[in-house]
Amino acid sequence: MSTKHNFYAGPAILPHDVLKKAQEELLDFNGSGLSIMEISHRSKDFDQVVTTAESKIRNLLGIPENYSVLFLQGGASLQFGMIPMNLLKGGTADYINTGSWAKKAIKEAKLFGIVNIAASSEDKNFSYIPKNIHFSPNAVYAHITSNETIGGIQWKTFPDTGNTPLFVDMSSDIFSRKLTVSDFGIIYAGAQKNIGPAGVTLVIIRNDLVDSGADNLTSMLSYRTHAEKHSLYNTPPCFGIYIIKLVMDWIEQQGGIQAIESTNEKKAALLYESIDNSSLYQGTAAVQDRSTMNVTFRLTSEELESQFIKEATEAGFMGLKGHRSVGGCRASIYNAMPLEGVEKLVEFMKSFEKKSPVD
Ligand SMILES: *Cc1c(COP(=O)(O)O)cnc(C)c1O
Repeated sequence: MSTKHNFYAGPAILPHDVLKKAQEELLDFNGSGLSIMEISHRSKDFDQVVTTAESKIRNLLGIPENYSVLFLQGGASLQFGMIPMNLLKGGTADYINTGSWAKKAIKEAKLFGIVNIAASSEDKNFSYIPKNIHFSPNAVYAHITSNETIGGIQWKTFPDTGNTPLFVDMSSDIFSRKLTVSDFGIIYAGAQKNIGPAGVTLVIIRNDLVDSGADNLTSMLSYRTHAEKHSLYNTPPCFGIYIIKLVMDWIEQQGGIQAIESTNEKKAALLYESIDNSSLYQGTAAVQDRSTMNVTFRLTSEELESQFIKEATEAGFMGLKGHRSVGGCRASIYNAMPLEGVEKLVEFMKSFEKKSPVD
């Protein structure tokens, strides 16, 4: 087994059991004598994978009947454009600007209608979730980013948008905590942080929104195409869907979302506590909004940060460098990161602090 501890922000850690299972089955899937990667997406074997993946996702998240579950390509970034392209039609949409990912979504929406920035935390470098939100009365939808992967801030409760459907980018915290799916019109996530490899994007969309999508779109960019064909309009990202299915098996074995959430809370509390109790490390996000998935922190100087990351890497703690746009350090502790991994990191951070010159 690897001695590395994977804190990369994305693509990110997958459960060891999932990788092991994929390895075992790689050359011979389900007794077929072939790899899952080399069989038809119309075959019985693959059909069972995609159907099972969908039904497990539905069960684990409690997705109501009137929602479609889609496996698409193009990442969460394509959803930034597909959402307004299908649904905005020149109207107004409310966006809450909480950081780099929200900004990218806003940029795309402006191509298809009017964007009202209902709230923003740009004034404090996106270190908090805004509390005063000014929704417009006539918005077609409202859009938020449930967890800003770069800034390390997370919505703890979701805003009440009344009759306006709420759309949410959950790329970096989907399946990390309990959810009421019916509170949302669309939930979307690139798989590569919490549920699978890069190359597949999960979209959970209410069917009336699918139906109301624009008519004049190229087939691949229309939700209707994918919903009608159950994600099999064209060749889907077969291997990615297969890994998602294995990750869903793993989540079930852990005891479902409730169990995952409780471990996530323990992991985050442990790491934040050690940061709060230190004079070398400082958390960068507002305490009430800090993320259970991406823990952002700084050291007292950039030299110490470089030294910390260098020594951490040598000790097997991988991916602790902050995003290139903000610097500092970031430990991503997604679902698949075991509690022991965080315990080891905390130990390492303590020993680094002890030998560092802090005044
Ligand atoms: C990683 C990430 C994205 C980008 O996802 P891609 O799949 O690379 O397009 C979007 N939003 C959030 C919140 C992310 O963490």
